[in-house]
Amino acid sequence: MTPADTVRFRQGSGRLCLDLVRTLRHRDTAEAVEELAEPSDLADWTRQFWPESPDAGPSLDTGPALASGSGPDPEAGSAADFAGPRVGGTDAPAVPSPDRALVASARELREAIAHLVDAARQGGGTAVDPDRVRSVNLAAAFATPVPRLEASGRLRWHADDPVRALLSLAAQDALELVVSPAATRVRMCAGPHCGALFLDNSRPGTRRWCSMGTCGNRAKKNTFRGRAVTAAAQD
Ligand SMILES: [Zn+2]
Repeated sequence: MTPADTVRFRQGSGRLCLDLVRTLRHRDTAEAVEELAEPSDLADWTRQFWPESPDAGPSLDTGPALASGSGPDPEAGSAADFAGPRVGGTDAPAVPSPDRALVASARELREAIAHLVDAARQGGGTAVDPDRVRSVNLAAAFATPVPRLEASGRLRWHADDPVRALLSLAAQDALELVVSPAATRVRMCAGPHCGALFLDNSRPGTRRWCSMGTCGNRAKKNTFRGRAVTAAAQD
């Protein structure tokens, strides 16, 4: 599996919890699209957003005791593997297909996170629904992925229940975000019908688009077309 095959969901909002919120595309519009509809969707999401191993530094020689029975990973530490930022996929564990109840819980968690983030980004003056707070707290209580040094000398992230572990990580990320000053830096994309949230890390705090590659680019083209129409009308 190549990294390109594993990037199915939109990412790059700057926070795992916001990337989860984005799995309901075109939120609050008539064109809303559910990306976590099936158990296989949630398994794919888990694989895509699974924490990556650190990509720098040498692999440790863990000695014959740990290494016995498994040779060094020939892919480990290869510079060609890390040509750019990468999310999940190649380092993801085997993800057993979750049951439908867990898919429903994941969607409920996502909506609870969206609710809390929405309240927080408006400065915290909005009342939050205690049931939704409970949902996020509950999800955050499950064991998150833990680092493990493998026989190959690489560090990889493990969990007995990968789906719940990654949802827990997203829930914890949300809890941390909504009480931090960064919450007021969460913006909604200015693209029409986009509705994606992202963390604005720009120095002036004026980022408008979830991605320059999609919504930003579309807006630039529309502006250009608008100018061309105006110029043609004036000819
Ligand atoms: Zn957008």
